[in-house]
Amino acid sequence: MDDVYKIIDNICINHTIDRETLATIIDSKDKEILECLSERARYVTRKLFGNKIYIRGLIEFTNYCRNNCYYCGIRRDNCNITRYRLTGEDILLCADTGYELGFRTFVLQGGEDEYYSDEYMCSIISAIKEKHGDCAVTLSIGEKSFETYKKYYDAGADRYLLRHETADEEHYKMLHPDNMSYQNRIRCLYDLKRIGFQTGCGFMVGSYGQNVDTIYKDLKLIMDFKPHMVGIGPFIAQHNTPFADQKNGSVMLTLKLLAIIRLIHPHVLLPATTALQTMDENGHNKGILYGANVIMPNLSPMHARKNYIIYDNKAYLGNEAAESIELLRCNLKKAGYEIAISRGDYNE
Ligand code: SAH
Repeated sequence: MDDVYKIIDNICINHTIDRETLATIIDSKDKEILECLSERARYVTRKLFGNKIYIRGLIEFTNYCRNNCYYCGIRRDNCNITRYRLTGEDILLCADTGYELGFRTFVLQGGEDEYYSDEYMCSIISAIKEKHGDCAVTLSIGEKSFETYKKYYDAGADRYLLRHETADEEHYKMLHPDNMSYQNRIRCLYDLKRIGFQTGCGFMVGSYGQNVDTIYKDLKLIMDFKPHMVGIGPFIAQHNTPFADQKNGSVMLTLKLLAIIRLIHPHVLLPATTALQTMDENGHNKGILYGANVIMPNLSPMHARKNYIIYDNKAYLGNEAAESIELLRCNLKKAGYEIAISRGDYNE
């Protein structure tokens, strides 16, 4: 058992993990390994962030999407969902509500919806920044050209989330149709970072075709690219997608990977995601015990939440709901954590 501690301490000290160690951790059902991972990840997080958890208000402003990702419920070919778009005004109202609740970061997420021209998007970004100058705006709206990203940035956007989904090209092809490419996804991430965005990548845990080797590549990407944020959560099947019958990702594996990511890239902003909370009613707190330090409650209007169904049974009430922030505060307090009322920028 000494070995286990040594192995995990090595990850801490060297900020790196080899394939063999990863395989051992993934396969292990050993409680000691889990406890050691959790304890070390928590220690590192505490040292860098204290007992503060950053919150981000998630505004899901459109579920129209031109893409057809096999796993995603808002894919273009899903004709069984009600599509909606929020106007710039609607979005600003969400931000106003969020501001009152204590949010200082707004995440505008949506499908790749060309209805929102560069000009329209920029006007929305600058309106939020004008009204709430002490807030950060994060975008999560997929793959765009360098020029478009630059316009968003110049309009005042601070951060951008674009999960790479998998760092293995063959695996990428198993998850996406031919008109999407791994190269373009990575091009986007490097463009975003070059422009100056705090940039987030990430992947689903347990996606179809994922294995130790693909996960190892995901971790290598994190070690090389050094993103400011990493979003991971279990894959959850959505019944109107080609992956309807695939099995869901594991909560345990998600927790192990959260801890490993914290250890190989200590300063990263790492959310305990909605998917994790959807799979486990205590998902947020478990994530935090394994090194997560961000939660992204939902600020979208109720009709939007109900239709932004990227996977089945997506949580949007209780802990997930921005308006129930007191409940979240209370749940975090039980674990010894507090919500930070601040932008919560990446800081190294
Ligand atoms: N269009 C944006 C936002 C996509 S939704 C973009 O491309 O970035 C945000 C994330 O949800 C995706 O990157 C994906 O990793 C995750 N997601 C999509 N479908 C999912 C599913 N069925 N289960 C779990 N996570 C899913």
